[in-house]
Amino acid sequence: MKKILLIDDSKVIINLLKIKIDEYFSEDIDILVALTYKEATKLIGEYSSDIGVAIVDMNLPDTKEGKAVVLTNSHNIPTIIFSGDEQSTMHSKLMQLHSVLDFISKNSTNSIDYAVGFANRMLRNSLYTALVVDDSKLYREKFRKDLERLKLNVLTAQDGQEAYELMKQMDKDKVVIVLTDYNMPKMDGIELVSKLRQEYKRDALSILAISSNDDMKTLTRFIKAGADDYIHKPYSLDELIVRVGSNLNTVELFKKSKDLANKDFLTGAYNRRYFFEISSSVIAKNYRKEQPIAIATIDIDKFKLINDKYGHDIGDIAIKEVIKVVHSCIRASDIFARFGGEEFCLLIEDISLENMKRLFEKIRVAFENNRVVIDDDVTIKYTVSIGVAYRVSKDINQMLKISDEALYEAKESGRNRVVIHS
Ligand code: GH3
Ligand code: MG
Ligand code: MG
Repeated sequence: MKKILLIDDSKVIINLLKIKIDEYFSEDIDILVALTYKEATKLIGEYSSDIGVAIVDMNLPDTKEGKAVVLTNSHNIPTIIFSGDEQSTMHSKLMQLHSVLDFISKNSTNSIDYAVGFANRMLRNSLYTALVVDDSKLYREKFRKDLERLKLNVLTAQDGQEAYELMKQMDKDKVVIVLTDYNMPKMDGIELVSKLRQEYKRDALSILAISSNDDMKTLTRFIKAGADDYIHKPYSLDELIVRVGSNLNTVELFKKSKDLANKDFLTGAYNRRYFFEISSSVIAKNYRKEQPIAIATIDIDKFKLINDKYGHDIGDIAIKEVIKVVHSCIRASDIFARFGGEEFCLLIEDISLENMKRLFEKIRVAFENNRVVIDDDVTIKYTVSIGVAYRVSKDINQMLKISDEALYEAKESGRNRVVIHS
């Protein structure tokens, strides 16, 4: 589990930080607390590689000022200084250390919020990749170094064209933030932004323009082309942290609201509405090419018995298991959704009748062999019945009706089987 280290001799501050951490962090997080330098040394000795971020007081009873900051820095732990001592002569020296990211004054309003929000941001940054596009090697490397300090993964490109090609080669959700210069050979920043915005909406990609002068016209053109924000060259680390942080927060919010609308709460699979939305273009495309598609309805056998025997909570775990089992058998491009209760739907394109038969048999067997172990003491197993419609069609409702009929046949003829209507 990810860990956050709090070093402060004030129990009041520690408690305020803890309350905020509980409020802010959506995932589980381990909070390590050191009230003295000695305790900090011990905790770091034990857990150093698991600590993702530290909030550190400058003055502790058992050490010289700033020494705890030097300690976390020497273990490459991203460090946020949280101190009431703004006048300290150590201040600027500490800020130059490579893992020290910010100095937050305890005296400022909302300082607890800001410190915890920043720590939360730091812990999530390692999940993300940034792409820096600049023809100046000096700036590319400076951005890389600073973004890596923020624990982001960093890629670079020296002009718009190289960046665009790089983006096309990669998985679509790999890069979440692009920082691009304006003046570059081959393709300039504004053209790059327009091209990227056609393919990546704001829930998938944030774009920051890098501007070397205060030319408002260029900035306006950047924003019109689809950039979210900008950063001036030369920039300070502080400015970079704030801009990148708030824009990543925005992408995450966009993504969250999209997920809320399109995904099923229990399983995280797509919901029925979204299944209809994304399958329509796939169905139309295959119909034009006169290629058959497969639509399958998958339903757990005698699921009511699981609920009756083990209770609804374990029933829920069994439903979530369907996602794991099916995803281990299908491709990323296949569309899979929960239609309700213990019923799921799968759309597959580009598949021959033979391969399709093999695939659904593989899924059926995967469930038959699967065991769900819950808390080491309950083991449940269940089978599924699968009804498949396989043909050239432009009518999803007709396909679903056929797969439902096939499912009914599979249930009637004894369950744990695949029935295909082609
Ligand atoms: P069959 O083999 O004919 O499909 O039998 P079955 O018991 O699986 O089907 P039936 O439709 O009779 O029962 C489905 C049960 O699924 C009834 C309902 O209470 C339960 N169920 C529906 N949604 C959920 C859910 O989100 N969580 C849990 N735990 N149970 C659910
Ligand atoms: Mg992307
Ligand atoms: Mg059922």
